[in-house]
Amino acid sequence: MIVIIGSINMDLVLRVPRMPLPGETITGGQFRTIPGGKGANQAVACARLSADSVKVAMVACLGDDAFGTELRAALRTDGIDDSHVTTIPNTASGIASILVDDNGQNSIVLASGANAELSPAHIDAARALIEQARIVVLQLESPLPTVIHAIKLAHVLGKTVVLNPAPAQALPTELLGQIDYLVPNEIEAAMLAGVPANGIDIDKDSDDQIADIIAKLRANGSSNVLVTLGEKGVYAALAAGSTHFDAQAVKAVDTTAAGDTFIGGFVAALAEGCSEADAIALGQRAAAISVARVGAQTSIPTRQEVTN
Ligand code: ATP
Repeated sequence: MIVIIGSINMDLVLRVPRMPLPGETITGGQFRTIPGGKGANQAVACARLSADSVKVAMVACLGDDAFGTELRAALRTDGIDDSHVTTIPNTASGIASILVDDNGQNSIVLASGANAELSPAHIDAARALIEQARIVVLQLESPLPTVIHAIKLAHVLGKTVVLNPAPAQALPTELLGQIDYLVPNEIEAAMLAGVPANGIDIDKDSDDQIADIIAKLRANGSSNVLVTLGEKGVYAALAAGSTHFDAQAVKAVDTTAAGDTFIGGFVAALAEGCSEADAIALGQRAAAISVARVGAQTSIPTRQEVTN
């Protein structure tokens, strides 16, 4: 079993000809609601990309609104166990209000809503579920004390812990030693390594620069680090050594949830006992398909699509 602990949001996506100025009203174009949130995206990616024998469960919070009902139904459609997805009374579900203009520029406002209510008590209540897991996956869209509590529990229970440290924020150093696979993008990696803001102009072609950042993370206790580099692929520092894995060459249309899809494919393959290199390959093949499609969960492929 794979257990994902994290956020669930409804993405409210509105096309606009251009971004409105302060105080201005403009008429938008197509409006869509698309299930999202890094936790839910990664759970859906794990479910779609896993072998049928691998179960996927989520630990999360939803509001008691119509979005909450819809988001729970979306998890079930992908066969995700939602027995530890708690509905919080008198609370709105998490949302992301997203304006996309004709140049493809995004402007996003997040309201965490019920995601802010995920507490250490919810993690303790899910202990029996976590005990059944082979891999536990977390991100940073949930309250940090809850993430820290969950990582400690999963580590003590001997689970493989995967952390996608997004959105970027500082973490207690001792936490890094409890994570088996840290999967940041290059910005998140630099931030965690304490590279100063003016140093976060990362050259994705420079393996040396990424290797320096990873060396800093490892000095702080990280074991395996996989830095995702968008169209440049993944730089992986593993126990067996460091390697740059190239991305698949595709025409990108919308990179939303590329990172979430990569993590889903990587974790799904690891849960089946595949090698790290094969798991990275499955994650990258799945992510390449996702960037050629629009939306978050709408873009995540199934295992069959990836292997065909
Ligand atoms: P997001 O926040 O949009 O989910 P991210 O910044 O977390 O993305 P990226 O590093 O952009 O993650 O992408 C994750 C993986 O997706 C890459 O390692 C790569 O395998 C794949 N990918 C992303 N963009 C492209 C692209 N343009 N072409 C091919 N593969 C891509």
